[in-house]
Amino acid sequence: MKVETSNCMLYIHPTKKGLDEPILDELTMKVLHAVRNKTAKGVLHQDGSFSKDISTKGVHHCTACGGNIHSGSQDIMLPNGLITNTLAVHYVAKHRGELTQEDITKINTLAECADTCVPPTEEELGKGWMIDYYSSY
Ligand SMILES: [Zn+2]
Repeated sequence: MKVETSNCMLYIHPTKKGLDEPILDELTMKVLHAVRNKTAKGVLHQDGSFSKDISTKGVHHCTACGGNIHSGSQDIMLPNGLITNTLAVHYVAKHRGELTQEDITKINTLAECADTCVPPTEEELGKGWMIDYYSSY
C-alpha cells in the first residue's frame, strides 16, 4: 500500500533483507513506545482518512523479508495522531537504512521512551502468527 499523506509514517517497501540483529536505539524505542501506547486501531485509507475499529481483508508482508514477517490486519493510531502499521517497529529496527528522512523526522517527534521500557518481543519486531501456507503469497 502506497499512501501519500502527511499524517502517517513508515509505509515503506524495503528492498534489502532486514538485519539479523535489530537496532535497539532511541529511535526504535520511541516507535515501540508509541505503538504500545496506541490510541486506536483501524484502517488508513488512501486519502489519509482513518476508520476506527475496522480491519483490512489482509495483511502486508515486509517486501524484503517476506515469509513470516507481516503486519496485522489493522493500522494503528499513535498518541500524537500519526498513523502507522504494525510493522513499524520491524522497519525501524531492521531496515534503518531504508527509512525516509521524512519518517525519521516524524519518529523524532514521538515521546521519549522511559529507561524502563521493555525491549521489543519477536512479535513486536514483526514475526507473525501465520503459518507458512499463508506466507507464500
Ligand atoms: Zn523486513
